[in-house]
Amino acid sequence: MDKTVKRAARAPKRSRRRESPAELRARARKIVARLERAYPDARCALNHTNALELLVATILSAQCTDARVNMVTPHLFAKYQSAAAYAAADPKVFEQEIQSTGFFRNKTKSIVGMAQALVERHGGQVPDTMEDLIRLPGVGRKTANVVLGSWFGKNEGVVVDTHVHRISRLLRLTRQDTPEKIERDLMQLLPRDKWTVFSHLLILHGRKVCIARRPKCEECVVSDLCPSSRV
Ligand code: SF4
Repeated sequence: MDKTVKRAARAPKRSRRRESPAELRARARKIVARLERAYPDARCALNHTNALELLVATILSAQCTDARVNMVTPHLFAKYQSAAAYAAADPKVFEQEIQSTGFFRNKTKSIVGMAQALVERHGGQVPDTMEDLIRLPGVGRKTANVVLGSWFGKNEGVVVDTHVHRISRLLRLTRQDTPEKIERDLMQLLPRDKWTVFSHLLILHGRKVCIARRPKCEECVVSDLCPSSRV
């Protein structure tokens, strides 16, 4: 790897005095505003038309690209139109149907188990609270955050995927290295009404500009606010 790129990807190159919490919050808000202007259509990239579809797509998206999930879900969503339908799915058939998303045995267990719990505990409906969602099999805080933020419009947390993890550190919005701790830092820094959109913005930015190992800092709208900028 090119040494300069390696340095930009791993550690900020500019030495600067440590920001005060107020300065850090102000910089974070500016970053959000710039990215919102750059990506006005930022939204969840997983295709869905209801909460159940989003929940299924999010479980499928673990260790898999959204584009791959979007190739698999049209068939699933046409065939399984309710929690009861997923709950009654033949696991062997379902495994084949989602095989290309990887980890298909575990994902099948999660989706069928999650659907059975929806039928047994929630009348087949997807609940709209963190507490109920994370009690469903195969549903962790990250999946719950996606559904709460992108379907129910509730900002309960920040989804920390691989892009959010990497770019939040490059931007020095956090020095933590686990999704749970990064989420906690971001929740403290960002206004609550930006928690959901912030993830969508960083995911788009990570795909288009701040690409892992070859960030296009010269094209980046937040390069002057980024301690890792190479320009
Ligand atoms: S300036 Fe932009 S592209 Fe470069 S490391 Fe920072 S966020 Fe990524």
